[in-house]
Amino acid sequence: MAVSGVPVLILKEGTQRTYGREALRNNILAAKVMAELLKTSLGPRGLDKMLVDAFGDIVVTNDGATIVKEMEVQHPAAKLLVEVAKAQDAEVGDGTTSVVVLAGTLLEKAEKLLDENIHPSIIMSGYTKALSKALEILDNMAIPVDIENEAELRKIVETTLSSKYTGHGPEKQKIIDMVVEAIKIIAQKKPDGGYNVDLDLVKIEKKKGGSLLDSKLIRGVVLDKEVVHPGMPKRVENAKILVLDAPLEIQKPDITTKIRVTDIEQLDRFLEEETRLLKEMVEKIAATGANVVITQKGIDDVAQHFLAKRGILAVRRVKRSDIEKVARATGAKIVTNIDDLRPEDLGEAELVEERKVGEDKMVFIEGAKNPRSVTIVIRGGFERLVEEADRALHDSLSAVADAVMDGKIVAGGGAIEVEIARRLREWAKTIEGKEQLAVEGFIKSLESLPQTLAFNAGHDPIEVLMKLRSAHEEGKKWAGVDIETGEIVDMWEKGVIEPARVKTNAFKAGTEVASLILRIDDVIAAKREETKEDKKSTPSSEED
Ligand code: ADP
Ligand code: MG
Repeated sequence: MAVSGVPVLILKEGTQRTYGREALRNNILAAKVMAELLKTSLGPRGLDKMLVDAFGDIVVTNDGATIVKEMEVQHPAAKLLVEVAKAQDAEVGDGTTSVVVLAGTLLEKAEKLLDENIHPSIIMSGYTKALSKALEILDNMAIPVDIENEAELRKIVETTLSSKYTGHGPEKQKIIDMVVEAIKIIAQKKPDGGYNVDLDLVKIEKKKGGSLLDSKLIRGVVLDKEVVHPGMPKRVENAKILVLDAPLEIQKPDITTKIRVTDIEQLDRFLEEETRLLKEMVEKIAATGANVVITQKGIDDVAQHFLAKRGILAVRRVKRSDIEKVARATGAKIVTNIDDLRPEDLGEAELVEERKVGEDKMVFIEGAKNPRSVTIVIRGGFERLVEEADRALHDSLSAVADAVMDGKIVAGGGAIEVEIARRLREWAKTIEGKEQLAVEGFIKSLESLPQTLAFNAGHDPIEVLMKLRSAHEEGKKWAGVDIETGEIVDMWEKGVIEPARVKTNAFKAGTEVASLILRIDDVIAAKREETKEDKKSTPSSEED
């Protein structure tokens, strides 16, 4: 441009662009707003959010993951936080609110440092160093836990539940019982020691009605379906189960093909032929010794009749994810073509039975070949309660699974954060120059977590932090804040216990997203890619 005097345009005129400090400030602001919003939901006394969508449907929850999932977020930097919270939820299952609050505070501290003309890259490097030291300290502090230590596992669930709607009274004990039992059933000992816990083995089935106390854990799979024909048995012992991904129907000619029926005999023959084919299908199934059929597809009325005559219990239109669970639990192979059916494809279970649950009927598959599969049927008086119980189960199953797999736990209530902060302060003396200021920002961000817990419970956050710091100075390394009284107590004694992984992941993810945002110095409206949109709008197939 200097040569010709004509400005060089590389972006379309009017393109939205912010850059440099302005872009950074904008992003920080957005992230801070997001964190402020979630802050009040942190901890046992956290408040709920009511999310209202365009149709007026509402969700009331204080579960961080659910809040960010339901929120309609516009700002790109805020979207990054949403993604991190979702990732925390998917990978660890708990600690979502903490991640966002931590990231928000890290950025708030960073902003102060930017004001003092400290370069973003110095801040990032200080944060990164502090993080790795914090993780090292955390690892050293973590206490081993064993799957046999039921008391400890129960406390982990209790801690997760304490910030949930269902976390009180006898309902709480019910959930704790079910979660601990489920994990003990599905946990698999690894040959080289330790355990593997595959949460896919737990199926959660929600059924409105009754009370939460009517919820049940069943060893096996429960399908929210009825036996398809009244003439079929409702109970089959020593079940040999055919799991099908094929219809027991004759493919009807499509509408464009006309069948000309000239006389009534021809029609009869046509129907007879159809009946014969369906009967043949059922005979093939019966010949393998199957006495239960579970299919993803439909079953023709005529086929139902023949199955009933053969004493076979059948369930149709079962969703794909359930078909897979049944196959896995019973050791069945999913059969896609009846002609290829072999007896060894069948799965086994001690009992398949249709039972009434509230107003509805469900099919229970119990005593399955693979003993490591469970279903939790959640009951509850109204839908929102059932939904919240579902979220509570998800978080606490994940928390116990994390603890059992890693075998490491820490005390919550701010204890771990304050102790790490204390040790980081010692270590920070070895850090030179301006990076030390960033490390100090990191330390304060960690401390903001217990402060927020205290604030949400109506206690003075500054006073609580002072008391926490001095308790830790005196060597009480598990001192945390008692939410009820605002007093400082030992969190092991109080039973506020969390898996180490919830913390390590939250610290990592929170720091990473803060750094990611600090690294951005240009926000440019990007071209709308047609293909990108197309991909998104393709409906995900399967489940009917
Ligand atoms: P997140 O979505 O991050 O899991 P929560 O709302 O579940 O957020 O709150 C988790 C925080 O609450 C953790 O720091 C945990 O240690 C703390 N906490 C849970 N129960 C108690 C308790 N009884 N007393 C004090 N702190 C608690
Ligand atoms: Mg939680």
